[in-house]
Amino acid sequence: TGKTAPRRLSIFGSTGSIGRNTLNVVEHLGGRENFEISVLTGNGNVKLLARQARAFGARLAVTANDRHYDALKNELSGSGITVASGKSGLMEAADREADWVMAAIVGTAGLAPTLAAARRGADIALANKECLVSAGDLFIKAIQEGGGRLLPVDSEHNAIYQVLEENQRHAVERVILTASGGPFRTASLKEMADVTVETARAHPNWSMGLKISIDSASMFNKALEMIEARHLFRLKPEQIEVIFHPQSIIHSMVGYTDGSVLAQLGAPDMRTAIGYALSFPRRPNLPVERLDFARLARLDFEAPDEVRFPALRLARLAMTRGGVQGAVLNGAKEVALEAFIEGRLSFLAMAEVTERVMDDLAGLPPAAGMDEVFSADRQARQRAAELMKLDLVG
Ligand code: NAD
Ligand code: MG
Repeated sequence: TGKTAPRRLSIFGSTGSIGRNTLNVVEHLGGRENFEISVLTGNGNVKLLARQARAFGARLAVTANDRHYDALKNELSGSGITVASGKSGLMEAADREADWVMAAIVGTAGLAPTLAAARRGADIALANKECLVSAGDLFIKAIQEGGGRLLPVDSEHNAIYQVLEENQRHAVERVILTASGGPFRTASLKEMADVTVETARAHPNWSMGLKISIDSASMFNKALEMIEARHLFRLKPEQIEVIFHPQSIIHSMVGYTDGSVLAQLGAPDMRTAIGYALSFPRRPNLPVERLDFARLARLDFEAPDEVRFPALRLARLAMTRGGVQGAVLNGAKEVALEAFIEGRLSFLAMAEVTERVMDDLAGLPPAAGMDEVFSADRQARQRAAELMKLDLVG
């Protein structure tokens, strides 16, 4: 009888590409009529964060940087919305009651709050792949302890989640992650040696944040996704394949022991994956573009070239070595990526730095807790910075 209580949502990283798409989906599915927004978090873009918080009636708005606290407080004065900042603010965000949390902070910064929200038992819609790459086992354990659902938002993993029939798990032979190939799919190694941030960030099919766009061009994004898939779907490294598919229409596939392959297809629009995670187990009605197969006419596939895209090889190396190599790969990569963005490192040297650091730190013990994960991450960053300073790479 009567109305059920609205679902309470929190969006970590609401000002980013995934965060904005999430609020767009929430709006399409009824907005404040159907949902209560518990927390929104952002970083430097306090004007947008404040606008979102007012529009959706958030209870708490958090900027990740203490320097922006006053600005956010100012923007939200008179609104009745609580304001917090910094690491403690993010932990406060994780502590607030929520039924569903969109984890869309970019990078390692998303780890602690997402883990805490998982332990609290919220359903986690996971966009932040670094959680699984750096702390896969611990993160899965936190979800199990909390008792919430883990709903993948990364388009490939969301696709697999859609076609991985739970009662056929025993018959899963492999998953096939599709990759557009990015802007350098057909470039020569020589051309790739001196690409700029501007060319690297121009993704042919998806519109995304800066870091993930460059990671897509270098295939580090796909490398992270291989490790992510391993943890999400409990796979062996050899069960994870990558295929270039320039149209980005097939978002990924699952191959079964009877030779069947199930795929999920759609326009490259993150709102499909976000909506699936938000409405699960039902499907929402979304205003995304519908596929016109006659106009598409063809779908192409190519084997990826691991000489030009060594990141894929590094992902397999990290999975075979196990332990904290995922955290090391990710930490070293993030430092190399920042150096590339700032013009201090060449495009191809990002993989060189990462591989050197992975080799140097191959002896670290497996992580019993988050402290070891953060320590591996820290050491990887230090070692990467050292290598670049000594000019040993790139
Ligand atoms: P983005 O850069 O557009 O947004 C990142 C968000 O994180 C913003 O809200 C920003 O304010 C916040 N943020 C930045 N630095 C922070 C810090 N130090 N502490 C706390 N918050 C901080 O990134 P995005 O493209 O939306 O990606 C978000 C996550 O989702 C990433 O992990 C990315 O790999 C993943 N993802 C994105 C897409 C996509 O289509 N954009 C697809 C799949 C997965
Ligand atoms: Mg993806």
